[in-house]
Amino acid sequence: MNDHDYSLDTLAIRAGGLRSPFNEHSEALFATVSFVHESAEMAAKRFNGELPGYIYSRFTNPTVDMFEQRLAALEGAEAAIATSTGMAAISTLAMTLCSAGDHIVTSGSVFGSTLNVFGAPVMGKFGVTCEVVNSTSLDAWAKAIKPGTKLVFLETPSNPMADVFDIAAIGEMARKVGATFAVDNCFCTPILQRPLSLGADMVVHSASKHLDGQGRVMGGALVGTKEMCREKVYNFLRTTGASLAPFNAWVILKGMETLPIRMRAHSENALALAEWLESHPKVAKVNYPFLASHPSVALAKRQQSGGGAVLSFTVKGDKLAAWKVVDAVKIMSITGNLGDVKTTITHPSSTTHGRMTQAARDAAAITDNLIRIAVGLESQEDLRADLARGLDQL
Ligand SMILES: *Cc1c(COP(=O)(O)O)cnc(C)c1O
Repeated sequence: MNDHDYSLDTLAIRAGGLRSPFNEHSEALFATVSFVHESAEMAAKRFNGELPGYIYSRFTNPTVDMFEQRLAALEGAEAAIATSTGMAAISTLAMTLCSAGDHIVTSGSVFGSTLNVFGAPVMGKFGVTCEVVNSTSLDAWAKAIKPGTKLVFLETPSNPMADVFDIAAIGEMARKVGATFAVDNCFCTPILQRPLSLGADMVVHSASKHLDGQGRVMGGALVGTKEMCREKVYNFLRTTGASLAPFNAWVILKGMETLPIRMRAHSENALALAEWLESHPKVAKVNYPFLASHPSVALAKRQQSGGGAVLSFTVKGDKLAAWKVVDAVKIMSITGNLGDVKTTITHPSSTTHGRMTQAARDAAAITDNLIRIAVGLESQEDLRADLARGLDQL
């Protein structure tokens, strides 16, 4: 099947189907550690790369291949490579690209563990330096990206403030110094945003979020050129071992069949909730990329076909006021996760962003009255009522 001929709705269901000799209709789960060879000669040729074929599931597995092919087709990429988690994808990317003396430039509003991987706790130990840009301003990025920069990394829209970064402009700066430009596309998924078509070199995914979509299994992936994925990253990953389990690949692969319909529904629900929150007298400010009041709404609408599931807002009041709203919910789950059909509610300053210093939290505007919602697929009316219960008490 030639991927260019089909829409994302079709690719999400049909791309990457590998049928076994049994002709199963639904994609098969190959729960096996190793694969059998017909002769000593065949085994030898497979091991030295002369013959294609499966050897061992740390290297390759047909169910994992199906997931990789489907994700690559959706992102419009040559290839993808699956990892055990999103963080395995990000640490694999950094270790594959960087050597001692190299330099990473990252947005400061990326996933917290990502900053730890790029910074002193992990890459810093191997002599890689990291500069953090705490701004969407192109001037700030131009100052940070310089010769010697190997990796430029960002997440857009950001979590939880929904800042939108200009992928094409920052990509151009990375290209000028020969750096690889990677975008964590976990929030939008290829259904809402395709970073490669905007100038990114690589896309990073936590498949534990929307790709699965129901919060069941962990997974991750790197997406890009065949050379990057199938040679460089593959050689690193088959040796170091953070490969995706076939069962997890199978769950995510089947989850992706409903990704287009889910992402559009998440975006619709989130926009409706964001607009309602904006009109509520006890809400001070709402952050959501597709709100008319968002400072980068025009850029967001150029880069994304929907606003995604995640919004945040501040209540008129302090931390206890925010906690009151969180504690009043009956439907939403109080959990740090996102990318699930179940709506989740989080108080970032005391949980997901609780380990940051106060100064860092202030710089990122993670105030004590801020609440993040990852909007799921329950009814809009029920979600509004769930938040109104707490807000109306303030
Ligand atoms: C969750 C998340 C990750 C990490 O993924 P895991 O699968 O939990 O390792 C990375 N980036 C973003 C944007 C995330 O939300």
